[in-house]
Amino acid sequence: MAKHTVTLIPGDGIGPEIAEAVQKIMKAAGADIQWDVAEGGEACALAGRGVMPEETLASIKRNKVALKGPTTTPTGGGHQSANVTLRKRLDLYANTRPAKNIPGLKTRFDGVDLIIVRENTEDTYAGIEHMVAPNVAQCLKIITWEGSVRVAEYAFEMSRNLGRKRVTCVHKANIHKLSDGLFLKAHEEVAKRFSDVAFDSIIVDNACMQLVSRPEQFDVLSLPNLYGDIVSDLCAGLVGGLGVAPGANIGTTGAVFEAVHGSAPDIAGKGLANPTALLLSGVMMLQHLKENATATRIEKALIAVLSEGKHVTRDLKGTAGTHAFADAICAKL
Ligand code: ATP
Repeated sequence: MAKHTVTLIPGDGIGPEIAEAVQKIMKAAGADIQWDVAEGGEACALAGRGVMPEETLASIKRNKVALKGPTTTPTGGGHQSANVTLRKRLDLYANTRPAKNIPGLKTRFDGVDLIIVRENTEDTYAGIEHMVAPNVAQCLKIITWEGSVRVAEYAFEMSRNLGRKRVTCVHKANIHKLSDGLFLKAHEEVAKRFSDVAFDSIIVDNACMQLVSRPEQFDVLSLPNLYGDIVSDLCAGLVGGLGVAPGANIGTTGAVFEAVHGSAPDIAGKGLANPTALLLSGVMMLQHLKENATATRIEKALIAVLSEGKHVTRDLKGTAGTHAFADAICAKL
């Protein structure tokens, strides 16, 4: 019997291709994992089994850990987001997205090493949206004290555990005085309990400008859901793009690791996708499972392949396909 059983949701679009590549690399690295493959996403919804079936949720609850490929959410109508459903049902309240320069990958900035902590269950993502008159739409932004405190506590505890120096709360409390005001106040209160981690705050528009001018000044950023979604894509762009940006959703009942990017329908099924973001999410998962040696081995092999630049995918200005890239990493292992 394998040491760890992990739920694997391949998902939609490029999901199955990159999930296969990651499984292959993990196997080559000697990760002792049994994959409990489960459905979820658009294809599953269209087949009438719902966007996030109960069996899939039960599998994650049982295993406590999942690796998830991207799932497609239609724009302007159709089924609910698989991710939003998953985060709500499993109460995955903190989404961490590290943005760190990868050695060997040339990007516009050097010295970027920050972590986004995104509140994952509230804000405009509560899904309370309706037409109040034929031409007037209303979307409610829900921010609670409890929701803000627990994500702030997560940001500070994570910073302490990782030896990070500073948490910056990103908000728009000058305009959204009550909602973002509550989020900021919760961070100010929690900060008092963490004298070893510095705290400051910044308005989200200024944060964006600072991030694209001097990103190296930031350490850990804690944001409400919507700003977190947008700013984390911006941060992915700072360190090489969506193809290399990993993430983790942490909750009270388990943890789901997934890339920042979506299902990339424009390149799906063509064998062109970069599996790095899902692979690095897998590395975060191995660290969560305390398999640090295997995590480091995979990271080193990935960096070696990226540094050589001979077998990288098109988004990184190379010519290799998903499998050739994965095979090159396996060869390094
Ligand atoms: P979502 O709303 O789910 O985030 P989206 O369509 O806005 O989805 P993505 O699916 O992430 O965004 O795609 C944005 C762009 O980035 C597309 O051009 C896509 O091909 C590219 N892209 C995303 N992920 C990868 C990847 N792993 N490898 C290569 N290109 C990618």
